[in-house]
Amino acid sequence: MKGIAEHLMSVKDTLPDGVTLVAVSKTHPARSVLEAYMAGHRDFGENRVQELLEKYDALPKDIRWHLIGHLQRNKVKAIAAFVHLIHSIDSERLLEEVNQQAMKCERVIDVLLQFHVAREETKHGFSLEEAEEMLRSSRFSAMRNIRVVGVMGMATFTDDGQQVRSEFARLRSIFHHLKVHCFQENAHFTVLSMGMSGDYGMAIGEGSTMVRVGSAIFGHRAAV
Ligand SMILES: *Cc1c(COP(=O)(O)O)cnc(C)c1O
Repeated sequence: MKGIAEHLMSVKDTLPDGVTLVAVSKTHPARSVLEAYMAGHRDFGENRVQELLEKYDALPKDIRWHLIGHLQRNKVKAIAAFVHLIHSIDSERLLEEVNQQAMKCERVIDVLLQFHVAREETKHGFSLEEAEEMLRSSRFSAMRNIRVVGVMGMATFTDDGQQVRSEFARLRSIFHHLKVHCFQENAHFTVLSMGMSGDYGMAIGEGSTMVRVGSAIFGHRAAV
């Protein structure tokens, strides 16, 4: 049986230059993260704050932790001091809270705006109209302790490759639209976070610059 380090390397081998791999370690123990860490990996993603905190405590401090799942406002404070990138900003109120907590920690937190491109209603995220309204507001300009570095999205969970591809294409077009219309003077707006174990190849084909891969590295998760 192949180990975590080997799975990690075979995923990495397929990624073009310029695509960042976030290894999604949710539900897997800290020792599994450590295996990938020993193989040289530093970017890890978790979708729940409690689990992220436990692993943060247990593991080396030069890990770059990505929060990729739905984030409640009352949980922001717990991760504000150390989180590397929050992928899942899905409302202005959440962004305001991240800004507040970042201010208290005297830092700037990098974030992605999550967009709703899937068919499922259960998935979170802005529409393009909502995001543009916020980005053009004076409220947004006043948020000095966050930096929007890109967008994130998830495709519909389906075997229909055409559907998935068109949703990734939609997210890429949102990314380019915002880059041209709202972030022209922001050289940091570079991240297009899309693609998971089952579809990251297709996501890269549609322009992804950051993939979030879990089960292809760590193995299958028990259903949650
Ligand atoms: C779990 C998760 C992933 C990784 O999923 P895999 O199919 O295991 O690669 C990526 N993104 C988000 C937001 C997730 O919750």
